[in-house]
Amino acid sequence: MASGAPVAPARTDVWGQLTGYTPEVLCASDLDDRVCELVTEVLLVAAAEWGNYGPTEYWVMGADEGAAIDLIGVNCDRRDAARQQSRSSCMDRNTADDYGMLSYQAVDAEVVASGQASLDAGRNGMRDWNIHYFTSSLPIGFAGMFNIPFANEQKAVFHEYFHAVQHAHIQSDNFDERDDLLGPTWFVEGGAEFMAQTASQRLRDSGALTASDWNPLAERMTWTMEEVRYWMSSNPGTSVSQIQYGPDQGIAYSYGSWAHAWLADRFGPDALLESYYPRVNDLGFEGAFQNAYGMSATELIAEFDQFVLLPIQEQLQILPG
Ligand SMILES: [Zn+2]
Repeated sequence: MASGAPVAPARTDVWGQLTGYTPEVLCASDLDDRVCELVTEVLLVAAAEWGNYGPTEYWVMGADEGAAIDLIGVNCDRRDAARQQSRSSCMDRNTADDYGMLSYQAVDAEVVASGQASLDAGRNGMRDWNIHYFTSSLPIGFAGMFNIPFANEQKAVFHEYFHAVQHAHIQSDNFDERDDLLGPTWFVEGGAEFMAQTASQRLRDSGALTASDWNPLAERMTWTMEEVRYWMSSNPGTSVSQIQYGPDQGIAYSYGSWAHAWLADRFGPDALLESYYPRVNDLGFEGAFQNAYGMSATELIAEFDQFVLLPIQEQLQILPG
């Protein structure tokens, strides 16, 4: 370090503690301000609902490549100033890497070119930086495109923020350990999806979120159950609970969201956040599951696979009012 260079302030590791910072939304300059406002609203409401885990940075890309590169520069200046990454390696990673920020701009450019709706968003770390770091392509519904309702985008941002809640409860900075503690794909993604579907619906109904018409929750969950049944009948002898991230991951989201609906009905809607997550860091996935639900994940899957065969009208009874 050159003499006279500022010394990075000592940081206390406050991972997993609630924070007073509001989530930060950083949008590419080609986006309409309204899009950024709507994303911010959802994050504030989600943080108020599930706890404000932060600091949270939510970077939103548009279709314009120049604007995307400018925003990547803003990000990389920040990473460099915080000594998390040098500016040049940050720029390289985010413009070249398949998962870099520019790949989200590429999704938007493809939407414009093809006229096909598409959205990609992810929580991409960063335990090492002590922040929840999200990148999203343009929330096309918030931009008024393709007649996608705001409600669909509200649900998507809730889903992403739930990943911050999950990660806030895991302390390790080792990637594989974190991955183990997160649990199987159906559990992680199904949890985010079920919580997002139900909480965003309730908070839209209460007026906390901007109003938007969408198919009722029961109808959305009916489509989801139809996918699960179709997959199960097309893949006899295979359990969706074994599906991992990859080409078939969507079915794990659908299956997991209903499995979480089942758990919430049987053990109460607060068991996940009040019993399961507070213990997962110490007990691991299986241990925390057993502790919160009094059954193993294998037992749940055996019971739940029977539930999937029930008539839809009976299944819909377990959804929150
Ligand atoms: Zn997810």
